Amino acid sequence: MKQFKAESKRLLDLMINSIYTHREIFLRELISNASDAIDKLYYRALTDGDTGLSRDDFAIDIALDKDARTLTIADNGCGMTKEELENNLGTIAKSGSLNFKKDNEQKEDIEIIGQFGVGFYSAFMVSEQVTVYSRAYGSDEAWKWSSKGAEGYTMEPCEMEGHGSKIVLDIKPNTDENNYDEFLETYTIKNLVKKYSDYIRYPIRMDVEKSRMKEGTEEKPEYESYTENETLNSMVPLWRKNKNEITEEEYDRFYQEKFFDFEKPAKIIHSSTEGTATYNALLFIPGRAPYDYYTRDYEKGLQLYSNGVLIMEKCPDLLPDYFSFVKGLVDSQDLSLNISREMLQHDRQLKIIASRLEKKIKSELESMLLNEREKYEEFFKNFGLQLKYGANADYGAHKDVLKDLLLFYSSSEKKLVTLKEYVERMKEDQKYIYYACGQTVDKIELLPQTEALKEKGFEILYLTDDVDEFALRMMMQYDDKAFKSVSADDLDLETEEEKQEAAKKVEENKDLLGAMKEALDGKVKQVILSQKLKTHPVCMSSEGAISIEMEKVLNSMPSGEKVQAQRVLEINANHPIFTKLQDLYANDPDKLKEYAALLYDQALLIEGVSIEDPVAFSNRVCNLMV
Ligand code: ADP
Ligand code: MG
Repeated sequence: MKQFKAESKRLLDLMINSIYTHREIFLRELISNASDAIDKLYYRALTDGDTGLSRDDFAIDIALDKDARTLTIADNGCGMTKEELENNLGTIAKSGSLNFKKDNEQKEDIEIIGQFGVGFYSAFMVSEQVTVYSRAYGSDEAWKWSSKGAEGYTMEPCEMEGHGSKIVLDIKPNTDENNYDEFLETYTIKNLVKKYSDYIRYPIRMDVEKSRMKEGTEEKPEYESYTENETLNSMVPLWRKNKNEITEEEYDRFYQEKFFDFEKPAKIIHSSTEGTATYNALLFIPGRAPYDYYTRDYEKGLQLYSNGVLIMEKCPDLLPDYFSFVKGLVDSQDLSLNISREMLQHDRQLKIIASRLEKKIKSELESMLLNEREKYEEFFKNFGLQLKYGANADYGAHKDVLKDLLLFYSSSEKKLVTLKEYVERMKEDQKYIYYACGQTVDKIELLPQTEALKEKGFEILYLTDDVDEFALRMMMQYDDKAFKSVSADDLDLETEEEKQEAAKKVEENKDLLGAMKEALDGKVKQVILSQKLKTHPVCMSSEGAISIEMEKVLNSMPSGEKVQAQRVLEINANHPIFTKLQDLYANDPDKLKEYAALLYDQALLIEGVSIEDPVAFSNRVCNLMV
């Protein structure tokens, strides 16, 4: 007896002891494995042409034996070698379900079993013993794998005609709570195939008992029973069906099973096109971001079918990065089966399809934004970050695709708004689209820099994600309105008159400001009299391309050179502190230096930037206190 690998054992225990009511999914799992195995061989038949097999040669056969209490599922697919039997059925590492579990440990195990492609082991939910007979295509030996569950499994050679696999389930006896007998009923199996496996592209056949009128008994009908080998599934893949023949439930189930999602999709996009490119596409926008979505492990891509045959599990070229959250498949007759990954990248047809899909996804999102705002905001919570990365990527090359899909928190609306909405309600004398950066909306709300703008009634976009400001800067403008940070040194808020007055004041205090700048010894580009402060004494702004927020983000990245924003210290000339500074400049230049240092540190703290010498800061404050 050989032992299962640790992970497998865990899942196996779960399966065997499961009280899960949807244990019927075991059939779907075994049929889908059979179909995968045939796909593999059929694909080879199509590409190599050396197998001499055609599509009609393939089938999945189900057999029931009530007396022996067995349910058998046989396929004539690729089969498994001895090593493959050991590796594939001895471990579960490849299955999507356990990966998911890492992230959702708190969720009920049981629930997970019901929702996911749990694979081969689900057979143990209904079986006392599972036996697999298999012969790999091209091999002349067959092997028998058998297991009663967590204890382990045995392997021995066996006889088998032709290639493929045969799975024999010894169905459990009924218990007080559970009826297992039903899985030996033709009726149940027929329904389960219809429910879960209808779109499987190979015939799923079974001997079905039927009854008919005996010949010559028309007068006084007598009936006899006979068996007929019936194909149980319609074999039309979901995406080839007509939209109005498909229920939402069917779409949802297809999505959840095929793409291992616990939740229903937020949006289903089913389209078929003919002309320069002929294809069916069935796309889904997930209801929530996959646990690994914002990590390097996440791979984007759509399944690619050529005329119903899967040629690539994840074709990345079909999706731009900013729509990488889209799941789904594309089926096109224009693509050659033999096409290699490298060739595919340059395939003209594929490029046309990709660009069509991009437009389609964009327009679906736009219509969601327009007609289902709440749903869109939920979507944006999940994937908005990716859209913003997209706006920033490639030097803003995708801004036109994305600019109307972005949402930002608004100071005046207190909710997420689009740039279009912002611009439409801009004040007449407002030149810019203003934004402010910070860790949270609440913190930004407190920033002194926003005072004057708020007083003027200007709306401000609150940016809380690292990428936000980069994205806006990359986009430069929306609808000819440039973006402007509230921390920029030139907000341009005053009237001509105010400007002249301000200039006068600067002139009068030129020496004081100069002395403060000197005291700060190169730490600031300038010390200025603020135009944006109303009641607060001091704040920091920046000049040039790099803002203080960007400096923070860039410097927190592990690689790359450290950057520094050109800092500008802004003093509120209407605040009593300013009178004090003027006084110190005239009477106590040494103390002015201390004050300059303190104000500088305070401005940094407001910005959320850590100060260079906290001890010196504390000592200065205490000196003032005593
Ligand atoms: P998954 O199908 O997600 O890979 P399963 O647990 O369902 O996980 O199956 C594990 C592996 O066992 C499959 O990937 C496949 O290699 C192999 N396998 C299962 N059933 C068959 C079969 N009928 N024919 C050939 N290989 C099979
Ligand atoms: Mg499987």
